[in-house]
Amino acid sequence: MTQHYRITLLPGDGIGPEIMSVAVEVLKVVEKQFDIQFEFQEALIGGAAIDATGEPLPATTLDMCRNSDAVLLAAIGGYKWDSLPRHLRPETGLLGLRAGLGLFANLRPAKILPQLIDASSLKREVVEGVDIMVVRELTGGIYFGQPKGIFTTETGEKRGVNTMAYTEAEINRIGRVAFETARKRGGKLCSVDKANVLEVSQLWRDRISQLASEYPDVELSHLYVDNAAMQLIRWPKQFDTIVTGNLFGDILSDAAAMLTGSIGMLPSASLGATGVGVFEPVHGSAPDIAGQDKANPLAQVLSAAMMLRYGLNQPVAASRIEQAVIQVLDGGDRTGDIMSEGMNYLGCRAMGDALIQELEKLAS
Ligand code: NAD
Repeated sequence: MTQHYRITLLPGDGIGPEIMSVAVEVLKVVEKQFDIQFEFQEALIGGAAIDATGEPLPATTLDMCRNSDAVLLAAIGGYKWDSLPRHLRPETGLLGLRAGLGLFANLRPAKILPQLIDASSLKREVVEGVDIMVVRELTGGIYFGQPKGIFTTETGEKRGVNTMAYTEAEINRIGRVAFETARKRGGKLCSVDKANVLEVSQLWRDRISQLASEYPDVELSHLYVDNAAMQLIRWPKQFDTIVTGNLFGDILSDAAAMLTGSIGMLPSASLGATGVGVFEPVHGSAPDIAGQDKANPLAQVLSAAMMLRYGLNQPVAASRIEQAVIQVLDGGDRTGDIMSEGMNYLGCRAMGDALIQELEKLAS
């Protein structure tokens, strides 16, 4: 029986529309190859939404996302909107989407593909075989804690305030996702905090340690975030699954991303309580290369694969896309960000065409 899925597409800003159009073309091929039918509906977010409606997350966008089976997002932001007040910034739209859909768990794989080892800035022996999953808490911590704002003190001086706060319940639910994820992978979980300085981290460490008794098959360790940053660069193969809060996860997942050579290769999944997940590349809107057909669409395409696997329970179709990506790379095709000597340079659209050719070969 044909499975119907309503997918909300949020192309956003910068390179977003270019990479989204490649992902949609790929999904249209997958649709023909499997018993799947997509109903795509496009909505505004970020700078594009600000320009059209005056706000970064129009209510209609959130409604459309809530009424879909999954959301495929590209990226938001750009120089043009950088000087707007905080509540009108593109990033506020993204935070609102995460909060509106209750997306508390962000899964960011950083896996080095053998074909791209030389694109990493680290030595081959350091990165070969790296396969890390960063589980980042997404709706709590310092990005949401109250009080927040820029206040004026009694002496008339301005004071900026953000609050890092986590409740036990918030730590438990992200902890459980992380233990379950580690269980399905290499069985090792490293919890990252700053418990030597921050009370909120002390609670984090206590709760995660308590949860460990429910998962005797998972080996738990703890690291302070500064040490974790060093260890990620020094010997990343020691990590399997990492769980951490919102701010630390934001930074560490980008560092993990760079181990793999290009941020243009990394997908992510954000899962929550409502069942509607958001699937998006780790990278931003890359305004420096927007509109030049230079963007690497593979993170977006791999995000569509994560959508099929984690959001729509279509693992076979997901694997088909991942296999096509590997075959394109095996054939020597590269966008500029992962280019190396002797490889064949392709722009964003041509990379999409190459993927579709591989998908068609895989089906025949
Ligand atoms: P960025 O990820 O957009 O770009 C960092 C560097 O990586 C740039 O040199 C860019 O050209 C390159 N790059 C990124 N994606 C690429 C791709 N697919 N192919 C080839 N090269 C790629 O990060 P930034 O420059 O810090 O931020 C730019 C804008 O994006 C800002 O407005 C920021 O707020 C926003 N941003 C959005 C998200 C998101 O939508 N989730 C995430 C991070 C940053």
